[in-house]
Amino acid sequence: MPELPEVETVRRGIAPVLEGARLEQVEILDPRLVRPFDPVIVAGELTGERVVEVGRRGKYLIVRFASGRSLLIHLRMTGSLRHARRGMLADDPHTRAVVRLDNGTDVAYRDVRRFGTWELLEERELAPSLAARLGPEPLGTLSAKRLGRRLAGRRAPLKSALLDQRTIAGLGNIYVDEALWQSRLHPLRPAGGLDGRDLARLHRAIRRVLRTGIERQGATLRDYALPDGASGTMQEEFHAYGRGGEPCDRCGTPLARITVGGRTTTFCPRCQRA
Ligand SMILES: [Zn+2]
Repeated sequence: MPELPEVETVRRGIAPVLEGARLEQVEILDPRLVRPFDPVIVAGELTGERVVEVGRRGKYLIVRFASGRSLLIHLRMTGSLRHARRGMLADDPHTRAVVRLDNGTDVAYRDVRRFGTWELLEERELAPSLAARLGPEPLGTLSAKRLGRRLAGRRAPLKSALLDQRTIAGLGNIYVDEALWQSRLHPLRPAGGLDGRDLARLHRAIRRVLRTGIERQGATLRDYALPDGASGTMQEEFHAYGRGGEPCDRCGTPLARITVGGRTTTFCPRCQRA
């Protein structure tokens, strides 16, 4: 559920809390979070680490420690982080881990569906494991040409290719539907069949929807919240996602809803021609 803008918003909220702090005590309450590793051992390894930086790559948060190791956090469907002054975190049955920091703050990881993951990686493991899972960062150096090379020769529907994190990192159902609506591209077009003008429009649209998502602090639907408990407002900007049957904001045609690769997909059958 959280996509690049939501994860970036979480990063911006939690970085000032974590950076420079030492992990005084770590409790991992749900073994699924760190499996196949033993939660007691992982908690012991994390205890004493000092955070130097909280980064992000795609939908992963990267907590870098002074030792060179990193904790890779993926929020999956419903993961979120909360922080409060020591002892002030609200009781919550969905808390899966609690970290006590030496700056007087407690940080809780909460996850209703329990698909989120924490992976503790050695310094040498970080770059190869990210490279194996993720394509380029869409708000980084990605150009329309490079996007074209990532899609070239692929017969998969455009929607599916863009959801594949190895094509480009960070997109999910919301921002793909929005980017395809903005660029007037049909979700079922073969990914490798775009010409230079299509690619330029798609590239611009992807960056625009992600930047707007970050400005609006993400979309709050169900469980997503900022680390201080506040909500994002990107859902007010949606033109396509979740609006099946409603009139297109460009042409008034009712938006169509189909399933692509098992994912509900909303698009305008008039503006986004096959
Ligand atoms: Zn339309």
